Amino acid sequence: MARESSGSYDVIIAGAGPGGSSCAALLGRKGHKVLLLDKAKFPREKTCGDAVSGKSLRVLRELGIDKEIEKVPHAPIRGVVFSSPKGVVVDIPFRGKNLPGEKEPGYCCKREIMDNLFFTNAKKTKGVTALEEFQITDVLAKASGWSG
Ligand SMILES: Cc1cc2nc3c(=O)[nH]c(=O)nc-3n(C[C@H](O)[C@H](O)[C@H](O)COP(=O)(O)OP(=O)(O)OC[C@H]3O[C@@H](n4cnc5c(N)ncnc54)[C@H](O)[C@@H]3O)c2cc1C
Repeated sequence: MARESSGSYDVIIAGAGPGGSSCAALLGRKGHKVLLLDKAKFPREKTCGDAVSGKSLRVLRELGIDKEIEKVPHAPIRGVVFSSPKGVVVDIPFRGKNLPGEKEPGYCCKREIMDNLFFTNAKKTKGVTALEEFQITDVLAKASGWSG
């Protein structure tokens, strides 16, 4: 991907994880000009439990990537179990609404794969320019009428 970018943007987003990439895609869809930057090269791994719970599926649907997860390596999950060294166990089942076409209330999917779905979706959204291996080191506050 080209590292050059020119012009001005309505929004510049630092970090293209699920948060930044979702924000970029949704703003791009609304007609905003967005620059999405990440110091990493995607796909990139990240420490995480890798769970995508029922509530998150609503967001995946809104972004239009809920069907994509079915096409990549994943495991269906139906809940989460927390246990302590003293043997106390809390079992929390996911209560998915199981809408038509929705198979599982949750998924487990490596972040290297899942986050790349978010990033790829943002990258192909009209109005979004995405640059990888671009580390932000400082923020320059310089705008007319803004005293910083
Ligand atoms: C041990 C652990 C287990 C977890 N388990 C789960 C789980 O099972 N399910 C779940 O939903 N959540 C889980 N989480 C939480 C989840 O990982 C985070 O909530 C989620 O990653 C936050 O997404 P984000 O987009 O805000 O940030 P991130 O995914 O962290 O993305 C931030 C991005 O910013 C980039 N970046 C950082 N600094 C710069 C810079 N200076 N310049 C350019 N780019 C930069 C990074 O490269 C990165 O890609 C877990 C977290 C941890 C630590």
